[in-house]
Amino acid sequence: MNYIADATSRCDLREYAGTIRSAFRLDKKLYFPVLEFLEYAMVQLFPEFNWEIVPDTELVGVEGLTLPNEHLIILPETVYWDAAAGMGRARFSVAHEISHYFQIDSKTVALCRAGMKLPPYRDPEWQANTLAAELLIPPNLSIGMYAEEIVHAFGVSLAAANVHIKQKYRENLP
Ligand SMILES: [Zn+2]
Repeated sequence: MNYIADATSRCDLREYAGTIRSAFRLDKKLYFPVLEFLEYAMVQLFPEFNWEIVPDTELVGVEGLTLPNEHLIILPETVYWDAAAGMGRARFSVAHEISHYFQIDSKTVALCRAGMKLPPYRDPEWQANTLAAELLIPPNLSIGMYAEEIVHAFGVSLAAANVHIKQKYRENLP
């Protein structure tokens, strides 16, 4: 039962990611330009949007923070520069925060109350990770690719590439 909801939700997020990519003519592009998207595209979609880079010491223990009421994404400087250098994990972190912002703006928002256990597809962290993955690696662009090819073509970590391949296997995708 959970799996069906999970699959539906992933399907919605995949479609959503496709719409976002198409809007910026990125639908055929393997390497999603995550920082350019943060710096130039977000404000076109959300005029109030802003982003900020802070010293790592100001954001301890997290790889980014999204403050919807302040229309703000905050990134620790190491994450920003690692993403600029093309490091997969940092690129995923930026995409994860962008994804939080999109969901906050949409009806799919699921607020996590303290002590409340949400099914995975209602969990905002699951949603942000899933939308980030779909934005970075659309399955229709990775057909027949091995993990190492995915790492290089899409600029993701080997861990993310393996999760992607496993998910495609579950869904019986090429
Ligand atoms: Zn998060």
